[in-house]
Amino acid sequence: MSFEPLAADFYSYADVLTDREREALARLRTWLETEVTPVIGGYWERAEFPMRLIAPLAEQGVLSYAWEETRPFENSAVFRGFVALELARVDASVGTFVGVQNGLATGSIAVAGSDEQRAEWIPKLASGEVLGAFGLTEPDSGSDSARGLRTTARRDGDEWVLNGAKRWIGNATFSDITIIWAKDEADGQVKGFIVPTSTPGYAATKIEGKISLRPVQNADIVLTDVRVPEGLRLQRANSFRDTAAVLRATRAEVAWSAVGTAIGAYEAALAYTKARVQFGKPIAAHQLIQDHLVKCLGNITASLGMVVRVSELQDRGLQRDEHSALAKAYATARMRETVAWAREACGGNGIVLEHRVARYFADAEALYSYEGTREMNTLIVGRAITGEAAFV
Ligand code: FAD
Repeated sequence: MSFEPLAADFYSYADVLTDREREALARLRTWLETEVTPVIGGYWERAEFPMRLIAPLAEQGVLSYAWEETRPFENSAVFRGFVALELARVDASVGTFVGVQNGLATGSIAVAGSDEQRAEWIPKLASGEVLGAFGLTEPDSGSDSARGLRTTARRDGDEWVLNGAKRWIGNATFSDITIIWAKDEADGQVKGFIVPTSTPGYAATKIEGKISLRPVQNADIVLTDVRVPEGLRLQRANSFRDTAAVLRATRAEVAWSAVGTAIGAYEAALAYTKARVQFGKPIAAHQLIQDHLVKCLGNITASLGMVVRVSELQDRGLQRDEHSALAKAYATARMRETVAWAREACGGNGIVLEHRVARYFADAEALYSYEGTREMNTLIVGRAITGEAAFV
């Protein structure tokens, strides 16, 4: 299967990929376009997650590429970024499912778990046999989770007792395990726990009425005297610094997803404006519509250059928190402009699911806010460049 560079990859950033990586991306793109594109609008409207796509997604390798234990071939962070882009280009909810299962849940165990925990859990998560979620945000602690977590962990012999609440936790209505971040009552440090969702005292309820990423099942979680053995505490998570190490990689991936979402909207608008005739010619032939399309392409091209570079830094072990934060803040802001211009170019049809652009327009809002809002990521970069923390 041959890999066709996207026309929206205007400066051919995909040139850096290896043949093996291109082949995997070509296979993924074909699968997404044949199996996901035709059905996803209906799932979006019904606010239902396409559970039947999880096994084939795992077979595509998207849950395996990042981990030594499971990767089918050596691959780069740039390649994995293009995977996130291809997923979001077709559907940001499917991309978010993968981001949670792979980047956040498996990533927590990969970054902060012991060798034994890695060996036990990563293969099961990569095959989709075990579904995971990542519980950091709380009803009263979102942006300030580095210092404001209220969920507590108390050591009791060989067990830990967790109490508190979590909000917005993706995949958590159906996950088998949820990584719960909680403050140790003894030393006040944030620690991570692999919590099987069947544990007594764990309850998850779906958040209804979302206008963005409707298929993603976000949950409110209540933890009442949830007991987990010491063996399920992430052995290398000793403070929020370790949680931040997980987010460093996933934030860059959200930036890639933002580029994919922007490309999806741009491509939908380009196709629509070439077909729609007004004043006797396709609206794509009107100067002001071309202006919208070119502004979209400019945003996509600038953001793509940025995310490729951030992933190259990751591949060389040089990626810092502020690198990911700038890419996330910048790419999501450009995405938000892009989907709005794309939707505008489609007129009234820009707000109905049938013409696709509406879904990207709505989904952009969640990507803009999750994994650190633009303001929080701006403050992370601001601290790095000035030496002054301006969070409070
Ligand atoms: P708040 O923290 O209440 O912020 C509200 C506004 O105030 C924002 O604009 C923010 O930038 C601004 N603000 C706050 N503090 C400051 C400040 N010091 N200076 C300037 N402005 C400030 N979390 C998880 O743990 N796991 C998940 O799987 C997960 N999935 C999510 C999926 C979706 C669809 C959404 C919407 C959220 C998800 N989240 C998840 C939570 C997400 O990370 C938070 O929503 C996000 O961090 C913002 O927190 P908040 O919503 O509580 O907003």
